[in-house]
Amino acid sequence: MVTLTDRCLSNPGADIFVPDGVSIEEALKRTTHLAVGAHHDDLEIAAYPAIEHCFENCGAWFAGVVVTDGRGSSRTGPYENYSNEEIREIRRREQIRAAMLGDYGIVIQLDYRSSEIKGGINESLASDLKKIAEAVEAGEVISHQPLDRHPTHIAVFYHVLEALRRLPDKQQPDSFIGAEVWGKLDWLSSTQKMTLDSGRREHLAQALIGVFDSQIAGGKRYDLGEIGHRHANATYGDSHSIDKFTQASLALDLSALLNDPSASACEFALDAVDRFRGETKQRLIDWES
Ligand SMILES: [Zn+2]
Repeated sequence: MVTLTDRCLSNPGADIFVPDGVSIEEALKRTTHLAVGAHHDDLEIAAYPAIEHCFENCGAWFAGVVVTDGRGSSRTGPYENYSNEEIREIRRREQIRAAMLGDYGIVIQLDYRSSEIKGGINESLASDLKKIAEAVEAGEVISHQPLDRHPTHIAVFYHVLEALRRLPDKQQPDSFIGAEVWGKLDWLSSTQKMTLDSGRREHLAQALIGVFDSQIAGGKRYDLGEIGHRHANATYGDSHSIDKFTQASLALDLSALLNDPSASACEFALDAVDRFRGETKQRLIDWES
């Protein structure tokens, strides 16, 4: 069992918070679901099915990791005149509030500037993520995926992939899931798309996204957009059957990228596009031939 303290992490501003006050070692050890998000509030959007699954569930614990520091956050409205340092502090506090509200097992904020991680693999970040993955040995790892449109999300995806590939075989997670944030996944082929129940506690989902006031009051209605999207996923997923869930989140199984460590994430993403192209062609070609 590898343990961890905030002093083991690369950045002096890194922070580890355990909402229920058990030791960091115990909080790491109990983790079943590990999620790594680029920004504050990505966990609550991308990894919500795992958060909901772990909520008030004594057999499952959620560990959340936020990679970037929040200094580059957009700010308007009441936060318009906040300095980079002030908005960083606000966003860190919002993440702590979400962890308390969502009954997370532990939340780790790594405090990287976005610019530090977008120029190829940053060894400090890859090392931090490997240490965390080793310490928690989670069965399920959730992060961003290569079809996302946000460059920082792509950067985090590649760092998580790199960190997991560096783990010994016996510490590899059972599942590695890439979730949607920017660039939704409803177009994915049903041969690849994972439809996850995210509708059992809408009030919790609303509250968790609503905690991030600096984003919502600052002009981005993620609270409305994300919950509406989950309702749409539940209804528009399959035209020939009734809704299985009241709300759903979509994701992509990335396990193939761990099973074959030499597999290209770019090829994996393009294969998804090719499947969509092939299915579209199949629906239309007979009409035009
Ligand atoms: Zn983000």
